[in-house]
Amino acid sequence: MSELMALEERFAAHNYAPLPVVLNRAEGVYAWDTEGRRYIDMMSAYSAVSFGHAHPRLVAALRDQAARLGVVSRAYYSDQLGAFLQRACELTGMDQALPMNTGAEAVETAVKAARKWGYEVKGVAEGEAEIITCAGNFHGRTITIVGFSSEAQYRQGFGPFPKGFITIPYGDVDALEAAITPRTAALLIEPIQGEGGIIVPPEGYLRACAELCRRHRVLLLADEVQTGLGRTGYRLACDHEGVRPDGVILGKALGGGLYPVSLFLAREELMAVFQPGDHGSTFGGNPIACAVGMAALELLEEQQLAAAAQRLGRYFRHALGHLQGPLIRGVRGRGLLIGVEIDTRLESARSVCERLLGQGILSKDTHETVIRFAPPLVITEAQIDEAMASIAAVLVGGEAHSA
Ligand code: PMP
Repeated sequence: MSELMALEERFAAHNYAPLPVVLNRAEGVYAWDTEGRRYIDMMSAYSAVSFGHAHPRLVAALRDQAARLGVVSRAYYSDQLGAFLQRACELTGMDQALPMNTGAEAVETAVKAARKWGYEVKGVAEGEAEIITCAGNFHGRTITIVGFSSEAQYRQGFGPFPKGFITIPYGDVDALEAAITPRTAALLIEPIQGEGGIIVPPEGYLRACAELCRRHRVLLLADEVQTGLGRTGYRLACDHEGVRPDGVILGKALGGGLYPVSLFLAREELMAVFQPGDHGSTFGGNPIACAVGMAALELLEEQQLAAAAQRLGRYFRHALGHLQGPLIRGVRGRGLLIGVEIDTRLESARSVCERLLGQGILSKDTHETVIRFAPPLVITEAQIDEAMASIAAVLVGGEAHSA
């Protein structure tokens, strides 16, 4: 194991600091390391593996489509794209979709759409469109996106950044109202801030944002890359407050944990700004992506995974809420997107994750003080119980888990 870690350290750029485990196989909620040790995956690749690892339907969709028709580019029509986008639109209440690959690309697409809408539809003077974003956001890693991050490290050394982004505090409706000007094209927002530390805004916040946006003719763009597709107990996290945004960004779980698939979905008036040649991606919307994405959407609905996430999330949070010990400062989240705030004066979140790893739990610290628990939505109560034994052992001491 240590040789493989050394090899990766030698040849991979050091833009990550992986936990010391070398995985080589995974199925369902479990993953195994090269020494055959089994772990429960409570990270799900930052929420990308909602359907569990190697789901037979998703693997078959990938394999069959790859054998039949792979990447052909959008220079031609394919027999897969229309039906996939139709289903994605139906499930999100949007009119049209633009396929990309990663979450960041779909966010960039949303930003481009919003700016062009600002100029062509709202009548903002060329070059003056503003997009409001929230402190603590995470929307990806491109220059534009890190340019409006409030995280110093994400920006440090990467400037200059594009202008036209305004930052307001998350969860503060008055701040939004004060920030809106006639130049404001859009509010770009995560319904729950994932990487920012699983921050759930006050009840009614999203609805109030949606109302303000409508009143001032500002687009509401919901980044549901992490929160979408059932993760928080609703198909979209916006559904929790009955909010229908003007644009929705999906990624991660849309690729079934197998393939990068992202979408920017929008109302027709917004998507209509794109003309042939305005925007694109060689791999975006390729037949394999569509087949996997379609199978993922079918699974989400057939297995009612949003409802499962709601029920299992309640069960899991309840169990976590019963843990008492000086390390635990609080438990929060919605559905199966859960954060445990650690008292980092006692131990760093990273060190807690290393101890969890030792007990057979894959997790990841987020925002330095929070342990993220976001298992596949197909996890069972029995598997949550199994994980809880190890989590309890680490967070409050007690019986150790044997894998
Ligand atoms: N938006 C949100 C809300 C995210 O959580 C992430 C990834 N953590 C992204 C965008 C970026 O996605 P990707 O890493 O696929 O570019």
